[in-house]
Amino acid sequence: MSISTAASSAVFAVYEPVIGLEVHIQLLTQSKIFCACSTRFGDPPNSNICPVCLGLPGALPVLNREAVTMALKAALALNCRINPRSRFARKNYFYPDLPKGYQISQYGEPLAEQGALEMDIGGASRSVGITRVHLEEDAGKSLHEGFPDSDEKSYIDLNRSGVPLIEIVSEPDLHSPDEAYQFLTRLKTLMLYLGVSDCNMEEGSLRCDANVSVRRRGAASLGTKTEVKNLNSFRFLQKALTFEIERQIEVLEGGGTIQQETRLWDSREQRTYGMRSKEFAHDYRYFPEPDLLPLLISESWKESIRRSLPELPHLRKARMMREYGLGEQEASQLTGSPALADYFEEVAKASGEARLSANWILGDLMFRLNERRQDITQTPVSAVALAELVSLIAEGTISGKMGKDILAEMFASGQRASQIMAEKGLQQISDAEEVGRVVRQVIAANPKQAEQYRRGKTATLSWLVGQVMKATRGRANPQVVQEALKKELGPSAPA
Ligand SMILES: [Zn+2]
Repeated sequence: MSISTAASSAVFAVYEPVIGLEVHIQLLTQSKIFCACSTRFGDPPNSNICPVCLGLPGALPVLNREAVTMALKAALALNCRINPRSRFARKNYFYPDLPKGYQISQYGEPLAEQGALEMDIGGASRSVGITRVHLEEDAGKSLHEGFPDSDEKSYIDLNRSGVPLIEIVSEPDLHSPDEAYQFLTRLKTLMLYLGVSDCNMEEGSLRCDANVSVRRRGAASLGTKTEVKNLNSFRFLQKALTFEIERQIEVLEGGGTIQQETRLWDSREQRTYGMRSKEFAHDYRYFPEPDLLPLLISESWKESIRRSLPELPHLRKARMMREYGLGEQEASQLTGSPALADYFEEVAKASGEARLSANWILGDLMFRLNERRQDITQTPVSAVALAELVSLIAEGTISGKMGKDILAEMFASGQRASQIMAEKGLQQISDAEEVGRVVRQVIAANPKQAEQYRRGKTATLSWLVGQVMKATRGRANPQVVQEALKKELGPSAPA
């Protein structure tokens, strides 16, 4: 099944996908939500545990104020209404990685509700509803693979037990896998700006489930939905949604009905599988957590957090367009993460060449980083070093072509542009006399082409420019070359 076929686009004219996302985001606190254990990732298994996060009898939870602050930042940035009073509840289920036999979460009275995330979809701005944002604790982790006796045993690491999460639930306002992808991207960018999470999907600090249904276009009621889990990368989210939407349409087209169920995305098989619905019948027997008081948020606390919010992505984008004369597309890309936006602003300020800086960052620099599967925080070329290169290009000391080679070298060796130029004797030749000498040699070596030009075939000029560039190994200033050629060749006129 493939969504790109002509047949499926016809089907899409009839059916409308309806998607809502449930996103779990790990908060960047130093300690867990109800105890003082560290939240550090990658520590030896079961080294960050205590009676509270092990759920030993008699241990009492104490709420981490920093976790609440971070959750409030997220909720306010998502334009939510903050409930002055919310409550924690016990969500009861049995699973080996859940030592207490229940998860402390928020249910009937969440921290925040009724927000919205603004998005640009197909050039039009649209608002996607946020149903709720609530706080909860993470469970531990079962390890089924990677041990010599993994065929007969599973292991459990409880370092993650009690790590603070926020769950963000969207309204079913998304209508294609691409929109869902964009929503999650936006949400991640926003959280990075707020500094409340690193949103690292590989380490599990951003996890996403999707509720998916389809209905005939124009229908008022929603179709039966399935919940798709195990979407632990942005690409899987898109693929799993595409598969699930097509699967549902096929069932309906074949006269069948959709079963409300939980389905798992299998990235190896590239398909979703239904889980036995009885096993996952949701009956969590929520009841208020008796060991925690209701969470009260005062107006003054809320307002002080609102005032502390950083410049958010859409505002930064607008400012950068205004301040640096960037296009919409460039500004969008450059504000994709706060680290990238900071990097750009540093290069632009140091070089005084905003547009050129943007071109080099979004072009060669990103290309090389992507090649190494790195992001801007891992770049071996500092903002100051790139600014130097950009200035050299802007002044005409080196050509764009040389700039590319030098940047490659800067990437490989970590050296500055000026060092590399000095070592390799690289300097753009702009001196008219020096260029003139090479131009005369090239004309002498190519009399036929020179004659063609003189007879009016002006296109030959760029071929001759190419020959001069070749002879100087790309170091000649192309503009000076062109002028020198015209001067030496004389007028071009039809015979
Ligand atoms: Zn603990």
